[in-house]
Amino acid sequence: MYINENFIKLPQSYLFSTVARKLREYKEKHPETDVIRMDIGDVTLPIAECVAEAMHRAVDDMTKSETFHGYGPEQGYPFLREAIAKTDYQDRGIDISADEIFISDGAKSDLGNLGDIYSPRSVIAVADPGYPVYVDASVIDGRGGDLLPDGRWSHIMYLDCKPETGFKPEVPTHAVDIIFLCSPCNPTGTVFTKEELKEWVAYARKSHTLIIFDSAYEAFVSDPEIPRSIYEIEGAKEVAIEIRSFSKTAGFTGLRCGYTVVPFELKGQDRRGEMFPLHQLWNRRQSTKFNGASYIIQRGAEALYTPEGREAIKKNIDIYLSNARYIREAMKKAGFEVYGGEHSPYVWARIEGEEDSWALFEKLLNEAQISCTPGIGFGESGAGFIRFTGFNSPENTRKAMERISKVEFNSIKGAKESSFNDVQALKAIDDLSVLDSITDRLGL
Ligand SMILES: *Cc1c(COP(=O)(O)O)cnc(C)c1O
Repeated sequence: MYINENFIKLPQSYLFSTVARKLREYKEKHPETDVIRMDIGDVTLPIAECVAEAMHRAVDDMTKSETFHGYGPEQGYPFLREAIAKTDYQDRGIDISADEIFISDGAKSDLGNLGDIYSPRSVIAVADPGYPVYVDASVIDGRGGDLLPDGRWSHIMYLDCKPETGFKPEVPTHAVDIIFLCSPCNPTGTVFTKEELKEWVAYARKSHTLIIFDSAYEAFVSDPEIPRSIYEIEGAKEVAIEIRSFSKTAGFTGLRCGYTVVPFELKGQDRRGEMFPLHQLWNRRQSTKFNGASYIIQRGAEALYTPEGREAIKKNIDIYLSNARYIREAMKKAGFEVYGGEHSPYVWARIEGEEDSWALFEKLLNEAQISCTPGIGFGESGAGFIRFTGFNSPENTRKAMERISKVEFNSIKGAKESSFNDVQALKAIDDLSVLDSITDRLGL
């Protein structure tokens, strides 16, 4: 048999394994030090009591023939889909029905699996830096093209996020088929305003682009003016799929549950120009390849929509958010340029005079016994940046920031001039060549 060679083309992702190895080595050399982990991309607080109770009851259901549950609906149980439609959408004035919601075992699966319903020749666009799954899953499906010497894929359009635009991607000038958007964003912690999302929706409508809107962190949005759902924007139902997860919101990273919204209005075309509802395709895809999320877990997720559940989510999110805000302010004080940390557990930062993400990682590890995630691991435009997370205890967060305040950075010594502008100029040239290779292929 022949293998899917795209797996061979895909380079190993060394980011998290390298961070782990460097931490291990440091600990072996300095067994007496306690390194504070500011790089954790996983929640640290336990699930709510009411979720645990609901799951206990669901386990008991399975022991009696009258309440036993075998295979459930592939789309998820109506009790959960209805709770989601009502609480997350209808009560907020957004017209989404339970039938447009598909329960999943998490956002990552759906982000990858959605590739089944669009053409293998689709051109995708991603923000750089970004969550690596968007690119890697597209490459596995054969949408990457060739890996270029700069580590980018010839057939993927990278939307470079720059300081001048608040580290958010800008609407491209060319048409693409699929755009992955993430707000609040992992890794930069930035959020789109209503005005910005309106521009994206207008672009998608004009250029017949499908937006895959990853809002795994929507619960971290604390300003009512900032959209939590893309469907808050008029006309978005015709162009966007929204993906959500209970992982970061409610501590479900180990339980596994999320959902995807595919509105009835959303359509794609076949080669002859005939239009088909994506809902129908996704429903067929799920019915064929997925047998639904566990009944027990869905009962647990349902409990999140009770008043106790709401309260518990808010309590945990508030802890993570206050950590992130603390990090944001402390880093600013230490001389860092910071993004995010207001509607997100993530703080994205760099400091003048330290231009290498990995060197900055080493410096913070050696001089402050703090670990972070090097921004370059999330894409080329992440060069020089590091990511800190609020997934930790308030005590550790404070202790870590106190340590940072004592580190001497080059900027303070005034030794080096910033060369950020040169870097950006080079990036702009890169952008053009990537665009050219895409437009050539598409014959634009
Ligand atoms: C964590 C994360 C996910 C994946 O969430 P699961 O539901 O646990 O699979 C998806 N998107 C982003 C941006 C994330 O950070």
